[in-house]
Parts: sequence; structure tokens; C-alpha cells
Amino acid sequence: MDLRLTPEDIAFRDEVRQFCKDSLPDEIRQRQINGQRMSKDDIVAWQRILNKKGWAAPLWPVEYGGTGWDATRYFIYKEECFRAWAPETLSMNINLVGPVICAFGNAQQKEFFLPKVRNLDVWFCQGFSEPSAGSDLAGLKTRAVRDGDNYVVNGQKLWTTGAHRSDWMFALVRTDPVAKKQKGISYILIDMKTPGITVRPVITMDGNRHVNEVFFEDVKVPVTNLIGEENKGWDYAKYLLGNERIGIARVGLTKARIALAKLLAAGVQVDGKPLSEEPRFREKVALIEVELKALEMTNMMVVAAIKKSAGKGQDPRTSVLKLKGSELQHATTELLLEVAGPLGMARQVGFLESTTDETIGPDWSATTALNYFQGRAATIYGGSSEVQRNVVAKGVLGL
Ligand SMILES: Cc1cc2nc3c(=O)[nH]c(=O)nc-3n(C[C@H](O)[C@H](O)[C@H](O)COP(=O)(O)OP(=O)(O)OC[C@H]3O[C@@H](n4cnc5c(N)ncnc54)[C@H](O)[C@@H]3O)c2cc1C
Repeated sequence: MDLRLTPEDIAFRDEVRQFCKDSLPDEIRQRQINGQRMSKDDIVAWQRILNKKGWAAPLWPVEYGGTGWDATRYFIYKEECFRAWAPETLSMNINLVGPVICAFGNAQQKEFFLPKVRNLDVWFCQGFSEPSAGSDLAGLKTRAVRDGDNYVVNGQKLWTTGAHRSDWMFALVRTDPVAKKQKGISYILIDMKTPGITVRPVITMDGNRHVNEVFFEDVKVPVTNLIGEENKGWDYAKYLLGNERIGIARVGLTKARIALAKLLAAGVQVDGKPLSEEPRFREKVALIEVELKALEMTNMMVVAAIKKSAGKGQDPRTSVLKLKGSELQHATTELLLEVAGPLGMARQVGFLESTTDETIGPDWSATTALNYFQGRAATIYGGSSEVQRNVVAKGVLGL
């Protein structure tokens, strides 16, 4: 298998690199380098820049604003965006609900939602997990009962990222309580302004509000907001573009963080010499780099395989990418915290929404502990490491 880039791919890589350099606003890049949390405005601004260029939703069908890139190009694009410290596009809109509307929505839904989803004129959150339905999602209990032209929704969602700043939710609800678990679930779009919805914060250990619990009490959702057929929601929720998990390892982000850690460590003095020259630190960096190289090779092998199969079906090796990629994200947030030392804890943590601006030490160090704590979630969301190991055992190792 040839894992080298063709001259055309290299020219494409240079084009993306130049575009990111010219188009990513400096203040957003600097906030990213400093590890500061992206505001809604930052994410919207970058996504609109990409949308103007025609790159906001690369994997959607071309007729709905996609680029028609193959797996290699998409991989290159993702890596270059990470390399440039660009914020990630809103996954809920671009990777999750958008492709489902493209594939299963009706003409009105496509016309109404797709341009807004791509341009971030509407912000979606994902209402799947519940208090007793996470890894075992099919056990979800939130009920939607048909009443004339509406569904009446009652129940609770949990861990809903960004629900407090979302306009819409794509949700899985139980429409047939008698049918077997996966069979009685429907996929509906809920306007978050509808009466009967209560959003409450769940504060994570970085002291911030990323996730929420969302309660539904007799919430009326028009039947026209049903995607596809009633009770087929499980199939739609499982639908992912074959290429969508290509960037899941975030190799580019880990590379950028290692480069940053090395640069910063050169300016930190330990026992009269730079931390970057300290043997234990160097060994730690080298071990991460070796693992990252192996991950990058695996990522390219998966890209080549997906390209060959024209993106049909899920390659179980993408679970290796999620598993190892998230472990290396842990390793690099830890590395940056080590570089910051005690200054990593210097930021005053505020309650809800944000931290205060009072910091001791340079801007970059003040965020390292918060990002270390928040980064722990990477091995849980999007399918926990244990669940990924099950997929690898069965799908890759054939156990
Ligand atoms: C920061 C964050 C953001 C999130 N955002 C969203 C969101 O926007 N929308 C949304 O719907 N959900 C979201 N989630 C929820 C996420 O998808 C779930 O947390 C995840 O699927 C795990 O489910 P759970 O928390 O119920 O844990 P459980 O499924 O109860 O798992 C508990 C433990 O058991 C292990 N386990 C479970 N099943 C198995 C098995 N079969 N074999 C071996 N081990 C197993 C798990 O790995 C875990 O360690 C988010 C979670 C986090 C942490």
C-alpha cells in the first residue's frame, strides 16, 4: 500500500496551508495557541470563512455544498486546519445532523435547514444520551406521543454539549414503547425555544459549562420535524458518512501541541537550564512522538482503505484512531501542564460559562490545568475507550 502523497495532493496541501495562513483571523489563532476556550462568535466566524470558500462541509454531497474531495483530500484538509490552529467546525452541524438531513430529510427540510446548518445560522445540539442510556443508547426512554399534527415529548437528556447556546436539537425519542429497543426510536428536530424545555448546567471538573441536562415536559414538536420515517431513527443515528471518522485521531492537533510544548519548554528554566534539555522531559516527548507516528501511519492506511472502498460502510479500524488519538490528546495536555508547572493552576476558575481574566504568569500557562481536566472527556464522548476496544476486538482482531 502506497502511503505517500501524490504531487497533486501535495499541491492541494499547500493550497489549504496558504488559505489557513491568509484567512484565519490572528486573534482566533492566538487564543487557540493559548488554549483559551473558543467563543461561539469565534466558531461561527471561522465556519463562515470556510463556507464562503466552499469548504465548510467537505463531505456533504456536492449539490448541498460539499466539495467532492476523496478521503485523502479530506484527511489533508483536517490536518492542515489543525496545524494552523483553526477551531474545529461545529461537529453537531457539519458531521452529525447535516449528513442525516442530506440523506434522509425531505425537500422542505433540506431547503430550510441545510444552508443554515452549513453557515452556522442555526446551532444544533445532540440529544441522544440520557441518565441510563449512554454506551447502551438504545435503552433511551424519552417519549414522543403523537397527538394530531404534533408529537408530545416528555423525558430527559444528559451530557448535551452546548444545549444552552443552541437553537435546535436533533434528538432520538421513543415513539413505540412496545417494539424491540432499536426499533421504536425516531429522529426528530426540536426547536429549543419551544415551551416546556428546561436546560440546566452540568459543571465539569475544569469549572466550566460545556454540558447540560435537558428536561422535556409536554413539549409540542410538529410532526413535520420528523426525519425520515417514524421508528427508523436508530438507522439514521447510526448513519455516518464513511469518511467522517477520518479526522477523529486529531493527529494534526497532537502534532501542533507537541511543537508548542517543545517551544514553551525551551523558555522554562529548571535547575538553571531549559526544561527542553531535561532528559526525562525529552524522553516523554520522544515516546509521544513515536506513538503519534504510528497513529499517523495507521490513519493513512485507513484513509487508503476507505478510498478503495469508496467510503462504503464503517471501517472498524477507525476505532483504533479514536482510541489511540484520544489517549495521545491526554498525553499532550499533560505535557503542556508539566511545562507550565504550578502556573498551570494559576487561573481563577469562575462558576458557569467562563473563567475570570485574572491570571498569574503568561496567558498560555493559565489554561493548561483547565484543558488537562476538560481533555479527560476525550476518552468518553464519541464512544468510550472500552467500547472502542470491543469494536477493535471483534472487527479488527476477529476475537
Ligand atoms: C464532555 C462530554 C460531552 C458529551 N456530549 C454529548 C452530547 O452532546 N450529546 C449526547 O447525546 N451525549 C454526549 N455525551 C455523552 C457520551 O456519549 C456518553 O457519556 C458516553 O456514550 C458514555 O455513556 P455514559 O456516560 O452513560 O456511560 P456508561 O455507558 O454508563 O459507561 C460507564 C462505564 O462503563 C463502560 N462500558 C459501558 N459499556 C461497556 C461495554 N459494553 N463494555 C465495556 N465497558 C463498557 C464505559 O466505557 C464507561 O467506562 C457527552 C459526554 C461527555 C463526557
